Amino acid sequence: MPKSLKNVDCNKCFFKCSNSFTDEDHQQICKEYQAAPYDRQKDFILSRVPQCNIERRRIRNELLCNKFFLSTLCVSNGPLKTAFTHKSEASGTFVGTDQRDHKTPPNKTSEYWTAKIRLT
Ligand SMILES: [Zn+2]
Repeated sequence: MPKSLKNVDCNKCFFKCSNSFTDEDHQQICKEYQAAPYDRQKDFILSRVPQCNIERRRIRNELLCNKFFLSTLCVSNGPLKTAFTHKSEASGTFVGTDQRDHKTPPNKTSEYWTAKIRLT
């Protein structure tokens, strides 16, 4: 279950992330992210985060701090690191393999994120 975003300490944050997202937004994005295939999750991260060490992330048109970004997706820094470790320099997409023991579903979800979350 997603935690409430009210638990994210963003009071001192320059971006005032919690003003940009409601708990309902958060629940929705978290649920859809968690339901997405493994490689789609990684591509999502890579498409939202230009560089591994950048402090600001972008969801929709909002800039978010790292903490809030990860909280919104209900993930830790682990998936972020994995995504960048296996990032293709040529295509900018995730080229690693799922270390977990399940198969990625057929590729019918290519429009998943843009359709569901209206990302930039
Ligand atoms: Zn913030």
